[in-house]
Amino acid sequence: MAFTHQHLLGLEGLSRDEILFLIDTADSFKEISERDIKKVPTLRGKTVVGLFYEASTRTRTSFEIAAKRLSADYVSIASSTSSSTKGETLLDTARNIAAMRPDCLVIRHNASGAPHFLAQRIDCPVVNAGDGAHEHPTQALLDLLTIRDHVKRLDDLTVAIVGDILHSRVTRSNVHALKALGARVRLVGPPTLLPAEAAAWGEVHNDLHDGVRNADVIMMLRLQRERQGRNFLPSLDEYSRYFCLTRAALSAAAPNAVVLHPGPINRGVEIASDVADGAESLIMDQVTNGVAVRMAVLFLLANRARQPSVEAPAVAAEPAEAPRLRRKAG
Ligand code: ASP
Repeated sequence: MAFTHQHLLGLEGLSRDEILFLIDTADSFKEISERDIKKVPTLRGKTVVGLFYEASTRTRTSFEIAAKRLSADYVSIASSTSSSTKGETLLDTARNIAAMRPDCLVIRHNASGAPHFLAQRIDCPVVNAGDGAHEHPTQALLDLLTIRDHVKRLDDLTVAIVGDILHSRVTRSNVHALKALGARVRLVGPPTLLPAEAAAWGEVHNDLHDGVRNADVIMMLRLQRERQGRNFLPSLDEYSRYFCLTRAALSAAAPNAVVLHPGPINRGVEIASDVADGAESLIMDQVTNGVAVRMAVLFLLANRARQPSVEAPAVAAEPAEAPRLRRKAG
């Protein structure tokens, strides 16, 4: 098995074997972070650029740590300090970065489809570090690795994903992967935060207790208020009264159920502190595994020979804001 794609744009369209290969590769990188000297020469001489147009703590830091543990040079660009503040388009920024010959471009953008847009126009592997409400492939891979570490399987699992499903790129990547791996998916949230396509992804629940009943894995989500253009909820208090994962709600889940959250958590809104910090919580394990997953992805992509872009680069259009959810992983 090999990962033959030039980019990692999403998990949609990836096969079960490809997803397992990515997780297995990540697994093999874990022990480097346990060493006293956390560095191997695997990507020495390679350059990785992180281009972040949205806030990020875990994803951004772990891509940088991952690159450095593999001895790649890592350059981090935040939109607030880039020439986008002077009116430069995303494409022009990316073309200028590509002209400096990096071996991999990691991009986070609030526009769904931005990484796909660039992947077709620059001759450098592109990794999607979260695009709008569309996909966040490395997050789902680290979620799966964490589940497998603790539950010891990825098939015959019931996974309840709870919260702001509508705006969650974490959900979309997880749904594609979990379905490819044969897990049963439940989408749990108020009707206003469930997209029309949720019914095609899995079982839909508007009640937290019903949604988590006998679930093996509960994945809690933050309310993505930066993506909510209008009021989707009567009040935050009311939301947490019905959808906050408390110890009482958790008691409906399967006896050894585990709790995940991609972070950042809003304590007392979607998850109670004693659950976030409790024995069932794998939140810190997810963060640890994030480094291994990003090492694996950089290892597989930054070693690629440069390939010509699919399209001529003289395209001025910018990606649309509207989520484009049907694109194929590249
Ligand atoms: N960190 C995740 C993301 O970037 C989840 C979140 O922000 O709530 O999508």
